[in-house]
Amino acid sequence: MKRTALFLAGSALFISACSNEDASNEREGIYVTTSFSVIGDFVEQVLGEHGTVDYLVPIGEEPHEYEPVPSDFRNVSDSEVFYTNGLGLEEWLNRVVDNASETDIVELSEGVTEIPIEGEGAPDPHAWLSPKNVSYYLTNIVADLSERYPEHAEDFEANAANYQEQIDELILEMEESFEGIEEEKRLIVVSENAFKYFGEDFGFETDGIWELNSSEEGTTGQINRVIDVINEREIPAVFVETTVDQRFMETISSNTNVPIAGEVYTDAVGLEGSGAETYLDMIRHNATVFSEGLTEQ
Ligand SMILES: [Zn+2]
Repeated sequence: MKRTALFLAGSALFISACSNEDASNEREGIYVTTSFSVIGDFVEQVLGEHGTVDYLVPIGEEPHEYEPVPSDFRNVSDSEVFYTNGLGLEEWLNRVVDNASETDIVELSEGVTEIPIEGEGAPDPHAWLSPKNVSYYLTNIVADLSERYPEHAEDFEANAANYQEQIDELILEMEESFEGIEEEKRLIVVSENAFKYFGEDFGFETDGIWELNSSEEGTTGQINRVIDVINEREIPAVFVETTVDQRFMETISSNTNVPIAGEVYTDAVGLEGSGAETYLDMIRHNATVFSEGLTEQ
C-alpha cells in the first residue's frame, strides 16, 4: 500500500513539474542524469566537455530509500538517459522514475561479480566501494554513450582510459598503505556492512551493525552481536559513515572501549570543502582512515 501511494504522489509531482522549464534552457550539450553522486562522478569523467550530469540523491543522503522531489522528475525527463548502479540499489526509485518518464534507465554495474547480502540471495549493491570494480562502470558508460553519440565515441574512450589510469594508480597506492596492517586486525567494522567488495579485493573481512541501510537499523540484538565480535577479535578501531546515524557506533565504541577511528564515505562523495568531493578523493580518504585506524602504533 505504501508503495502505491508514493507511486501516485510521484506522478502528480511529475505532472506539476512539467510546466516549469527554466532549468533546462541553461544546459549545453548532452544531458544525462544519474541516481547518486558516486556514479555521477564516473559518468562526468567519461562525458567530459560534451555535456552535463546531474544526480538525484543529494550529498549527505543515502540512495537506498530516497524519495524523489519534483525537480528530479523534471531532470530525468529532460535527460537522454538515467544511469543507475543496479544490483537492487535503486529499485524503488526506478519504479517511480519509470512511471513518470520515457527516459531510458541503464544500470552501470553490469559485469561486476556479485557478492550476496548476508543471509539473503540478493546481491549487495556497494560494488563501487572497490576501485577494482570501476572498470566495469566505465566500460558500460562508454558503451552506452558511444551508442547514443557515436560522433564522440573516441573522446569517451580516451576520457575513460585517462580516468582508469588514475584509478590504477590509486589501487597501487592503497595496496601499499595496507601492507602494515596485521592479518588478524584486517576486519573493518562500520554501521552498514557496505565494504564487502572492497574487503574481497584488498584482503579484509568486513562486518556491520546492519547489512543494508534500507533494513532495520540499530536493534539491541544487532548492537550486542557487534560488541561480541569486537571483543573477540580485539581490533584497534571501528569506523562510521558520513551518511549514517553515528549514535549506534558511538554506543558500541563506549561499550568496548574501541575508538571510532574516523569517518568513511560509502553512499555519497563528500560535501564541498570536505576534501572528498570526487570518487578518487573519497576512496583515498577511506584508505587512509582504515590504514591509520588498523595499523597498531
Ligand atoms: Zn549503502
